[in-house]
Amino acid sequence: MSTPGRSFTDGQGRRIEYLRISVTDRCNFRCRYCLPTSGVTWLPREELLTYEEIAEVVRQVAPLGLRRIRITGGEPTIRPDLERLIALLRAESHVDDLSLSTNGVHLPRVAARYRAAGLDRVNMSADSLDPARAARIARRDVGFDPLRSLLAAEAAGLGPIKVNVVLLRGVNDDEIEEFARLTLAHDWHVRFIELMPVGDLSDLTERHIVPTPEVIGRISRLGALSPAAGPAGNGPARYMQLPRGRGTIGFITPMTHTYCASCNRVRLTADGRLRTCLFGTHEVDLRTPLRAGIPLVPMIHAALEDKPREHELLSLRTGGLRALSQVGG
Ligand code: SAM
Ligand code: SF4
Repeated sequence: MSTPGRSFTDGQGRRIEYLRISVTDRCNFRCRYCLPTSGVTWLPREELLTYEEIAEVVRQVAPLGLRRIRITGGEPTIRPDLERLIALLRAESHVDDLSLSTNGVHLPRVAARYRAAGLDRVNMSADSLDPARAARIARRDVGFDPLRSLLAAEAAGLGPIKVNVVLLRGVNDDEIEEFARLTLAHDWHVRFIELMPVGDLSDLTERHIVPTPEVIGRISRLGALSPAAGPAGNGPARYMQLPRGRGTIGFITPMTHTYCASCNRVRLTADGRLRTCLFGTHEVDLRTPLRAGIPLVPMIHAALEDKPREHELLSLRTGGLRALSQVGG
């Protein structure tokens, strides 16, 4: 049983200390595994929580033991004045880790501003280090150089940087070694994410999945991999390290391993719904009570009582779930 008013613990006794906040469902990319190129319906702007409303949700739940916040989307950097939200969340003294997930396009322009507003670090998606190929995977050619964005984040002090790579057979799997080598030159955490059956996968099949043992085997040819601690609060990834590696190499494999027993996170969607499981379907509307001035903590406790023990990814297979861009991946 959770203990209303005292802590942030779910019905399975898991301590919840990590909130992912989606600030928009919109995106300037149409990644092949995430968003379709047409026919997407965006949330009307008035349905989005304002920055003040997001900060109010955090103000109410932070004293229950919230330690970490990640701002995500959609693509969070396309929401205007994001540094204003960063500053509001930073002012919440209970939160000691404030991070951002981004596709990186805007980092060269905004990294220093976000850092000055109080952002601690970034997770950047980079499915290729080759700008032309990155544009093909993103299905948007915006003159984006992923390495330049990573270096901009590093220069702004937004580390330890996590680099998220979704591997697709025949598309970018020839870059596995190059991504792994980044951890020799930089203290970055490069994480290979297994393709998940969520979102628009219409031009992908199971043949595009690159099994993690194969990835580990290929990286091992660069040097003997040893287990590594990974970054603090590393969540659902296993980490390894190359000899003389400054950074680590992580593997996120939700299809072959579930990390549910140690899950410490919940999500707030851009329209103010609390999702207790990324891959579930259960959401609780917080926006209506928030706008009516009703305290949120009792309903958050009730929602946590129902947080699923395990995700439904394996049982639903493909097509049953909303894109990660919609729920704040
Ligand atoms: N737009 C930001 C970005 O791309 O980092 C934040 C939101 S995005 C939904 C968060 C993460 O979800 C990205 O690292 C992306 O690669 C991952 N993702 C989205 N759809 C996925 C899928 N079908 N399988 C695996 N990872 C996926
Ligand atoms: Fe946009 Fe991120 Fe989805 Fe790519 S993965 S389409 S950048 S939300």
